[in-house]
Amino acid sequence: MADCVFCKIIKKELNSETVFETENLIAIKDIHPKAPVHLLVIPKKHILSVHTLTASDEKLLGEMIFTAKELAEKHGVGKSGYKLLFNVGEDGGQTVPHLHLHIMGGRQLGE
Ligand code: AMP
Ligand code: ZN
Repeated sequence: MADCVFCKIIKKELNSETVFETENLIAIKDIHPKAPVHLLVIPKKHILSVHTLTASDEKLLGEMIFTAKELAEKHGVGKSGYKLLFNVGEDGGQTVPHLHLHIMGGRQLGE
């Protein structure tokens, strides 16, 4: 989508600190990190949120979670632990209407 911030990042129209990229997804550093490690795994396909996923997105979702696990390890929080988070919609605290998986670690997040 033309005015979507994550679509712009995917199309390289907007800068980001990209840490990983495949044909189907990109992973970037969150611009306002809430933990020492705060990454976002973002599918290249513009999907609004978890709530608009369809059965055809199942494989992509698996790829996102597997990538999150690999990146957590690569960024040094595999052993200490981390949080994976999808915010969904307004009450879920979602501010960017393009599906993304937060990876947060490097401090105690178990509230
Ligand atoms: P959410 O609240 O789940 O929609 O999360 C959106 C996240 O995207 C927030 O943690 C923002 O800090 C982050 N964010 C927004 N714009 C950018 C950007 N241009 N580059 C990197 N992260 C961003
Ligand atoms: Zn988008």
